[in-house]
Amino acid sequence: MATGVWVLPDQLHQGQAALASLPPGRGPVLLLESDASLRERPHRQKLVLFWSAQRHFAAELKAAGHQVELIEAASAAEAVPAWVQRHGLDELRLMEPADRPARRAVEALDLPCRLVWLPDNHFLWSRDDFEGWAQGRRQLRMEFFYREGRRRFDVLLHNGEPLGGRWNFDSENRRPPAKGLQPPQPLLFSPDAITTAVIAKVERLAATTPLPGQAQPFGWAITRTQALAALDQFLHDRLDDFGPWQDVMVTGQPDLWHARLSPYLNLGLLRPDEVLRRLEATASERAVPLASLEGCIRQILGWREFTHGLYHHFGPDYPGRNALEAQQPLPAFLWSLGGSGMACVDTVLGELAASGYNHHIQRLMVLSNLALIAGWNPQATTAWFRAHYVDAHDWVMQTNVLGMGLWADGGRLASKPYAASGAYLKKMSTYCSGCRYDPKQRTGPRACPYTSLYWGFLDRHAERFRNHPRMALMVRQLERLSEADRSGVREACAALEWGPAPDARGPAEPSA
Ligand SMILES: Cc1cc2nc3c(=O)[nH]c(=O)nc-3n(C[C@H](O)[C@H](O)[C@H](O)COP(=O)(O)OP(=O)(O)OC[C@H]3O[C@@H](n4cnc5c(N)ncnc54)[C@H](O)[C@@H]3O)c2cc1C
Ligand code: SF4
Repeated sequence: MATGVWVLPDQLHQGQAALASLPPGRGPVLLLESDASLRERPHRQKLVLFWSAQRHFAAELKAAGHQVELIEAASAAEAVPAWVQRHGLDELRLMEPADRPARRAVEALDLPCRLVWLPDNHFLWSRDDFEGWAQGRRQLRMEFFYREGRRRFDVLLHNGEPLGGRWNFDSENRRPPAKGLQPPQPLLFSPDAITTAVIAKVERLAATTPLPGQAQPFGWAITRTQALAALDQFLHDRLDDFGPWQDVMVTGQPDLWHARLSPYLNLGLLRPDEVLRRLEATASERAVPLASLEGCIRQILGWREFTHGLYHHFGPDYPGRNALEAQQPLPAFLWSLGGSGMACVDTVLGELAASGYNHHIQRLMVLSNLALIAGWNPQATTAWFRAHYVDAHDWVMQTNVLGMGLWADGGRLASKPYAASGAYLKKMSTYCSGCRYDPKQRTGPRACPYTSLYWGFLDRHAERFRNHPRMALMVRQLERLSEADRSGVREACAALEWGPAPDARGPAEPSA
């Protein structure tokens, strides 16, 4: 029986289940560089990263003895059935994609051979194990899932108990910015000949299809060897201060002490188990502050696995959720990646344009907070995030943007909406000192849009949140305002005329 393997773009590790099932020389292996991904109008850095990493992975597989073909094509429909026929395949094996739409797209190809799906081995928790954990629980909360993960995978335990006597050191990790913070720079990589060729291709495509962001300078790792070097540099230079400065935002410092590992983990260049083991090994070699070590482990063993597990647990209806009935169109400045007039937003969008990356608090408290309080449509907002981030994949976007960022799932993921006014940004960032708005003012010519919109959000949803255990206090604060104040807030919100993008696009499904 003739058998082949199709490696999807985010499955670039040699131990992935489909490749592992077919030893080198026992059948052809396909990688596809499809223009169909342009439908989403992805950030140029994202395209370069994905395509260059695939090309490098193809070369790696060849060196390992596999019979590999990387096909550049307009779509999977154009290339894959013909490839299957050319090799006379009876069976095509794929590892189950993490993204649901990717599997639908493969199944829609109607291939002239049997499709065999092997379970995804790219996460610590299998889908069945997550279901087993979730079953029978009234509420699915990350903290309990994380503790179970610590026990199950024996991470940061001493005699079965959490190291340091506590599961969670988050309370020590919320410092506001201090003067003169000087984070070490992340490790960047100069483009080699393959990456340079991909950059040229992306620039050529950008001449006819408007693609956001800049392709250059490009510094992301595109091989497993480089990704491991980036991990080592993080462990060596940035891990110790990861915790205390995790929530701060500083003008001119786009990375701070964040790991910048999500693109590599999500493409398969790094595996979550090896990252966890290296974190623990680092702490056994030298003293790493426990709050930083535990904080970083919680992101990978906790949040990353939780958002993936929930994505599959919640099922195909989840992406359509819009619990707060938010219908505003996305503003033009999101597509132009700047020009909002708000120092925080323009700083974050400028950094995004350059690298395709923002750290977590910028994504959560600057961008998705604004989307939440301004009432932007959640499906359009999710599509925007998916297109613009180098680490964006459907499984991680839906839960993070719809669930954590926009509360569009009605609280299935986050116990309360992450809605905040300019006061939060003033406390946790250095952005406000360079802004024409005043974070304290909710009305008037210098009113900070975040502050107006925050009160406007409470005003719109007061009924819904009046008895909510974690929102009731805020609604009571709103209800202490006079009717004149409340109508002033409504007017200030209505006066924010950002205008929809001229080429406003609806959400496009990611493809195989
Ligand atoms: C609105 C919004 C959109 C997001 N979009 C993405 C996305 O497209 N892709 C993505 O991988 N993450 C996304 N996240 C989660 C998180 O912001 C990123 O994983 C993180 O910023 C990646 O940067 P880092 O590697 O420097 O992370 P660090 O802050 O250094 O954290 C270390 C690692 O933990 C994992 N992690 C941390 N938080 C999360 C989380 N909430 N969900 C999943 N994994 C997490 C990542 O693998 C990350 O590399 C989003 C969060 C929000 C609020
Ligand atoms: S004043 Fe408001 S708009 Fe300006 S940087 Fe601060 S939070 Fe952002």
